[in-house]
Amino acid sequence: MSSQPSTETTTPVRIHADRSAGTLAIDWADGHSSIYEAVGLRWLCPCAYCRGEAGLPGWLDTGPTLTVEQTRLVDVHLVGSYAIAPEWADGHHTGYYPFVLLRDRCPCAACTAQRSSDPSPRSREVHA
Ligand SMILES: [Zn+2]
Ligand SMILES: [Zn+2]
Repeated sequence: MSSQPSTETTTPVRIHADRSAGTLAIDWADGHSSIYEAVGLRWLCPCAYCRGEAGLPGWLDTGPTLTVEQTRLVDVHLVGSYAIAPEWADGHHTGYYPFVLLRDRCPCAACTAQRSSDPSPRSREVHA
């Protein structure tokens, strides 16, 4: 038994951006795998421009129609040991996606079902 809190669920062991498929795949230390569509990932962008700040709505809150360039994944950078920063074809790269957020929004069927059955608004706390 370890006294350390488990972070296996939010520790990636492999991050793979497939530019031709337009997906980002993350394998987690607990054995789970998540595959994010680029479009869905773009909508999750937690940066101040997209999400707003100080109570003001961000660009994504205005429900924009995203262009092909805005949802095309060009590159993914690691930010320290806690987040990744995707770079988009329109030049946007200021969104730091914490692993906690990504795991929380895992789009697989099992996690989606679990989220809809769990009424706790935990996912809202992830983004500061
Ligand atoms: Zn953004
Ligand atoms: Zn999942």
